[in-house]
Amino acid sequence: MLVVGAGAVALRKVQLLERAHAAIIVVAPQVAPELEKLAAAGTIELRVREFAAEDLDGARLVIVATARRAVNRWIASLAEARGIPVNVVDDRKASRVIVPAIIDRDPVIVAVSSAGTSPVLARRLRERLEALVPKRIGLWADWLAGLRAAARRRLPSTDARRRYFEMLVDGPAERRFVAGDERGAQRIAQRLMAAGASPAPTQAGEVTLVGAGPGDPELLTLKALRALQDADVILHDRLVPEAVLDYARRDAERVCVGKAAGGGGTSQEAINDLLIEHARRGRRVVRLKGGDPFIFGRGGEELEALARAGIAFSVVPGISAANGCAAYAGIPLTHRDHAHSVSFVTGHGEQGGDEPDWASLARPKTTAVFYMGLARLDHILARLIENGAPAERPAALIAQGTTAEQQVVVATLGTLRGTLRGRAAARRIESPALLVVGEVASLHEALAWFGESPAADSEPQSA
Ligand code: SAH
Repeated sequence: MLVVGAGAVALRKVQLLERAHAAIIVVAPQVAPELEKLAAAGTIELRVREFAAEDLDGARLVIVATARRAVNRWIASLAEARGIPVNVVDDRKASRVIVPAIIDRDPVIVAVSSAGTSPVLARRLRERLEALVPKRIGLWADWLAGLRAAARRRLPSTDARRRYFEMLVDGPAERRFVAGDERGAQRIAQRLMAAGASPAPTQAGEVTLVGAGPGDPELLTLKALRALQDADVILHDRLVPEAVLDYARRDAERVCVGKAAGGGGTSQEAINDLLIEHARRGRRVVRLKGGDPFIFGRGGEELEALARAGIAFSVVPGISAANGCAAYAGIPLTHRDHAHSVSFVTGHGEQGGDEPDWASLARPKTTAVFYMGLARLDHILARLIENGAPAERPAALIAQGTTAEQQVVVATLGTLRGTLRGRAAARRIESPALLVVGEVASLHEALAWFGESPAADSEPQSA
């Protein structure tokens, strides 16, 4: 492989070729220091001089990347006359070979090419695909290769072998493997092999409990995205925004099983039954919940029901409302000067249910985050003050956090109610809303960065 030119562009190409373990010769009168290092390490051969026609002797591929277009074209014509494939960087006309943008998950390679029309577009497309191709897909390919000998022995018909590998690649085995659970994949592969790759008993579906984050769809994790694109059916809460559901596979069935704050919607038992029923029909079910499924999301209860029913499941965590809202409101939940601990509390107070430990929530240098607290705001503020929190302690209400409609109101335990009343006429606070109590809330004024200007929202602390 011959590379003519030794600047930054040539260096990038060399780095790519090097990963393919190609024998590389670089010719150029001036050489980038990184290339000198590669030569010193014996990775490439360096010819520090002008290009000469003999350099083409024995070359199987030529990449031309000098700074001069005319020189590039001349070298390209020499290469072409000898029948050697040539790529001229950024010169589609002079190139016989196009170098695509690649996702390299050795041995798996995904290449994106715009046939030289727009390298930038190809690169962007590659970046988007990058997120969708699991990091471990190359290891998975190697792992599958390791099964081939046994498959040939144990599954004599080509049909059975094809089915076997299809079931591994399309089914839970791949998902487990790319998630890092090699032993789980191994178990499934063994079971499939033992069953002679017959689909019937192994086609059981599974449920993935997925956290959708607090609102901004870009706060989805890559795993959540992948789960959404793999799903046959998605059972989602009302809190999950449309913009998140837009990431799901187009033909996936969507069922809203949302429980509104005021009751109504599908009962928890009915949701559990639905999950089990869909999974038993062999479908890939995503149970999509706002925020994180394990924080006030009843994710635990649903998994218990699945475990009892013998249905396979996995969990993809999400950014909980407390994390998302705090970040987007510029309110660090802990801070060396202001809070050494943070509590996530439900403000819902189920009828006859336990009250939280108000005394500990009222202690200094702690942050308390109340979910579902809007309806019982007065109760929460009063209990904190009764239990020793000073009325001057900062408190923030964050509504529709992380979305374009986010509103942040910062006041104190004593003034929050009045401040809200004052604002109600201007712009009503809409649920979902989160209450953050603690000194850290006052940092909003200095650290707010998202959406509205902080000055408009902050209330003087001494009010
Ligand atoms: N599992 C979710 C919480 C479900 S409880 C999570 O981890 O975030 C629902 C409560 O979450 C709401 O009443 C509200 O207090 C809070 N919440 C969820 N999304 C919110 C948002 N975008 N802004 C403010 N609060 C939110």
